[in-house]
Amino acid sequence: KAKQSGRDSYCLFEPAMIDYIEYSRSIEQELLQAITHSNELFMVYQPKVDRHNNLLGAEALVRWTSAKRGFISPAEFIPVAEETGAIHKLGMWITGDVCRQIRQWLDQGYELVPISINITSSQFDDPEFINHLLATIESFDIPYHLVELELTESGILKDKSRAVEYLTMLRDKGVTIALDDFGTGYSSLSYISDLPFDTLKIDKSFIDKLDDDKNKELVKSIISISKTLGVQFVAEGTETEQQVEIISSYGCQVFQGYFFSRPLPVDEFVEKLARTNN
Ligand code: C2E
Ligand code: MG
Ligand code: MG
Ligand code: MG
Repeated sequence: KAKQSGRDSYCLFEPAMIDYIEYSRSIEQELLQAITHSNELFMVYQPKVDRHNNLLGAEALVRWTSAKRGFISPAEFIPVAEETGAIHKLGMWITGDVCRQIRQWLDQGYELVPISINITSSQFDDPEFINHLLATIESFDIPYHLVELELTESGILKDKSRAVEYLTMLRDKGVTIALDDFGTGYSSLSYISDLPFDTLKIDKSFIDKLDDDKNKELVKSIISISKTLGVQFVAEGTETEQQVEIISSYGCQVFQGYFFSRPLPVDEFVEKLARTNN
């Protein structure tokens, strides 16, 4: 029994916490089940384009349509997978499926663009994952430059020398690295300038607030910092023509967002691929 100290703070488990623990346990079990025994999980692909809507790349995003719960957003189940450890199996399934898909597109003769895969911090912390990823790319005989990893600042903040070592190893092979959700973490500029990476994806929250003058200046500076670092700048979550106009005038050349395209199922994405061929 919890200590009878007369202080509420000694109550270890709030009912809401117990609910959450039960919820995350069942999500974990259902996810593991989905990975091995169902076709509830699948990948969609969101184009990255220039301002004329020419395809430059795509981000692979996982989808889960659970027979029991219906559609569940990755914004909901990825954090649970991260906490429970299910992310390791899920992450391997995702890289396997994306690599299989890239191989199929290559075999079908499409001229392919680099495909980005999102990686959580515990995946990046796991040497087995990096090895598995490289082995998977090799086993499907995919050119390394067709694979990009998207990592968040917090995902590589823990141990800098190790992060530099891993990122260097991946980049030496030809895998490119994007810093995702940039501006929402806590990394310093000096930390960022020491990291080997190729692309900086500014978080959607900055693109959402382009009517605010201070935020405008901030976005302008981040674009300028990208230039200084020699990395590509990507505007995530671009939803309006006005946003495209504004950030284009600041020098942004790569866009991702509903204004150009939502994440697409494979059959719709290949139509875009087919069009880049001509
Ligand atoms: P993220 O990596 O920052 O992905 C961008 C999210 O913004 C995606 O949501 C995308 O569908 C959404 N988005 C793109 N453009 C727009 C726009 O113009 N407007 C709006 N409102 N949203 C836009 P999604 O697919 O729901 O994924 C949410 C997050 O879940 C991702 O954020 C990522 O952190 C995680 N996630 C998704 N798929 C995977 C995956 O395969 N592996 C891992 N580890 N995480 C994933
Ligand atoms: Mg991403
Ligand atoms: Mg992002
Ligand atoms: Mg984001």
